[in-house]
Formats: sequence, structure tokens, C-alpha cells
Amino acid sequence: GGVIRAGFDPELDELRKVSSSAKQVIAAFEAQERERTGIANLKIRFNNVFGYYIEVSKGNISRVPDDYERHQTLTNAERYITPQLKEWEEKVFGADERIAQLEAQIFDRVRASVCAETRKLQSTARALATLDALCALAETAARRNLVCPTLHDGDEIEIKNGRHPVVEAAISGSFVPNDLLMNNSTDRLLVITGANMGGKSTILRQTAIIQILAQIGSFVPATSARLPIIDRVWTRVGASDDLASGRSTFMVEMTETAAILHSATARSLVLLDEIGRGTSTFDGLSIAWSVAEYLHNSPEHSAKTLFATHYHELTELAETLPGAKNYQITAAERDGNVVFLHKLQPGKASKSYGIAVARLAGLPQTVIERAKSVLEKLEKYELAVFGEDRSVGIAKAAGARSAAQVSLFAIANESAIDSLRDVDIDKLSSNEAAELLRDLKKRIV
Ligand code: ADP
Repeated sequence: GGVIRAGFDPELDELRKVSSSAKQVIAAFEAQERERTGIANLKIRFNNVFGYYIEVSKGNISRVPDDYERHQTLTNAERYITPQLKEWEEKVFGADERIAQLEAQIFDRVRASVCAETRKLQSTARALATLDALCALAETAARRNLVCPTLHDGDEIEIKNGRHPVVEAAISGSFVPNDLLMNNSTDRLLVITGANMGGKSTILRQTAIIQILAQIGSFVPATSARLPIIDRVWTRVGASDDLASGRSTFMVEMTETAAILHSATARSLVLLDEIGRGTSTFDGLSIAWSVAEYLHNSPEHSAKTLFATHYHELTELAETLPGAKNYQITAAERDGNVVFLHKLQPGKASKSYGIAVARLAGLPQTVIERAKSVLEKLEKYELAVFGEDRSVGIAKAAGARSAAQVSLFAIANESAIDSLRDVDIDKLSSNEAAELLRDLKKRIV
């Protein structure tokens, strides 16, 4: 019950008035009977067996008028009914029953008349929904300064001054727009490095958002955009776990990555945000490295890929893979503080500014100081042994895949580093370099 609005059916309204006035009528009837009989504690009560009745305590029975019919005797009281009470009761009970019936009838009637118009209603609903969605896109385009993209049959994504519509709305006014160029040949795999909080995830996501908006028929947040038709956006972003079903963060990350590697095509756009960070550095780096290589090289699954990473070693991919390019999100340091410029530029970032960001986040000062001194030591070791060029040189000699490992081994173990001091890297053959690597690995284990 209660599904039919007041004012829809006069009979229903009338019955509801009767039913809802029951309490007031009882109170009035009780007052009237107390006055008539002079019995101050006379009560009108209700139970499911007898319905409404009048109750009078034993001491007052002598005052009960003739028209009361005795109904039930209790230890301390007598219960009565009167013709007037029963008549009124019938009206109330009848009203409730009738309300239920009537509502059901009205509901059926309304349903049948809606049903008769189903086709019209559904096509109107569809038209309104489409109109609503298109108006929302149009309104957003006008308010947020979006432009009409050009879709073409080629493979280039060329965005000028692209913006992330949600981040832009949230930070009102200070969003830094960025250009982006991708294709299936020379700029297929963009390795993006840069400070934490620099805007790597933002550029990844905004590229996908622009592409999707264009394909649903919307204007896009940029000053211009030339876009291909893509078949799918694949993403591996954010750290989430699924502990309830027994999958760790890393497992989720790998499962999603596996799906991408098995299914991406040359017409896909792939976003990889720091894959490999869920495990140890060596494992993570090796996986990130080979995933990037696979997405670049695979004949069936090579896709346009934006790869944001803190593994600076991955920037070495651009030296060997023809379709890989390095980009960095710029940041500057002023008085020991990191300043985020959020600008995407060609090249590789030199620092992650992790410690500066940790300080911003409020890590205790002693922890920050200690981290700084550990970092300084690690950096010194690496520089002392290899110098910047030599580290790259050894890596090249040993094959690109091991490049990252060489510099990491060097950082990790001082005695291993010592063993390299007298080696003339430039004269090593690849076999010798590989031998050297094996030897290094043994020492570290
Ligand atoms: P990262 O992935 O490099 O750690 P995010 O993409 O998560 O960084 O960005 C961190 C924050 O920086 C965002 O929440 C946003 O407030 C700000 N930001 C990112 N990109 C821009 C930009 N282009 N202009 C202005 N602010 C930005």
C-alpha cells in the first residue's frame, strides 16, 4: 500500500481520511462516554480478537449505562461494547480493507495504461537519454574550453596543450598543458620519468581521456588534437589489491599486465604506471624492462605505450629500440625544496626527488636526514666506480637487458665494485662482459 499519490482518486482520499482520523475519533468518543457515565477511568481499547471495546474497572460497574453490552469479564474489570462503537469500528476496518483493494486496482489500471504506451515511452526515454548526454558534452565543451578533435585513418596521436579535465577543474587555473606525440613507428613507446608528484600519472590519464572523449563524439581538453581510432585503452595504473580473493597487490598488477600483453594490438593505447614496483627492485626492474621491450617488439601485440617509471635504467631502452623515446616531467630545486613544473619534455629525468616529497609529506626530520646520507653514499659508490659513461658502456657490452642490473649490482656491493676497478671496459668483448656479469652476480649472492 501507499503507492498511490493523494489527489489521484477521490474515493481513496475519502477512505484514507476515515482511516487516519480513527485515533481522534476514539479520543473524542472516550471523552464523551466518560462525561455521560461519570466514570473517570473509562477506557476505549483494542485487541485483535474483539476489536474495539470499552473497559470499566470493577468499582465503577454500578454506573454503567443500560446500552452497554457486556462482552468479557476480567478479575478487575468488565469489557463492553455499544452499537455506536461497533458501527464506527466497521467503518474503520472496512476503510482499511477497501484502501488495500482500491490501491491494488488503481495500481493495475495505471500499470496497464503505461504498458499500452511502452514503445512510445521507451523511445522517448532513449531520445531523452541521448539528448541529455549530448547536451552534457556540449555544455562541458563550452564551459571548459574544449576543442573539436580531428580523427584520421593514420596512427598518430598528436595533442597540443592537452589537459586533464578533472585535475584542471580541481586546481582551478594553474594547470600546465602539455603536448604529446605518438605513432606506431618512431614514437611508439614513451618512457616517462620525473619527480614524484610531477604529473606522470596525470599525463598518462589525460591522453586516454582525450582519446576516449574524441571517440564518444565529444570535444577534447586541448588547443588541438589529431587522433586515430583506437580499439581499446589498456591500463595498469594505481596500486590496488584484492586480498579477499587471495590476490596480493603484486599478483593483481601482474594479472593485469598479462592481460595487456596477451591482448593489446597495434591500434591499442596502453598506459603503464610504474609497473614492477610491487616487488623487489631487481625483479621489478627486470619485469618492467622486458614488458616494455615486448610491447615495443611483439609482432602482434606492439601497441602505443605510455610508460611512467621511477626506474631510470629504463631510459636506456631509447638507445636500442627505434620506437622508444624518453620524456621527462620537469621539476626544479630551489633552496632544497622541489618545485614541480609539470612540463613534459624530451629527455630523461636525473632525479626522483623522492626525499623532497617525503619531507613535504611530513616524514620525521631524522628519517629524512638519514635517508639523505644513505642516498649520498649510494650515489658516490656508483660514480666512483663507473663514472656516468662507463656504467652505460658496461651495460652495452653486456647486452641492453642487463644494463640496469650492472649499475644496481654496483650500488649494492662494494667488494663487487672493487673487482671492477682495473677492468678496461672499452676493450671487453660481449662474451667477456657477460662473464664479468656472472662473476659479479656470484659475489653478490
Ligand atoms: P606522479 O604520477 O608523477 O607522481 P601525478 O600525476 O599523480 O604525479 O600528479 C600529482 C599532482 O600534481 C596532481 O594531483 C596534480 O595536483 C598535480 N599536477 C599533475 N599534473 C599537473 C599539470 N599538468 N598542471 C598542474 N598540476 C598538475
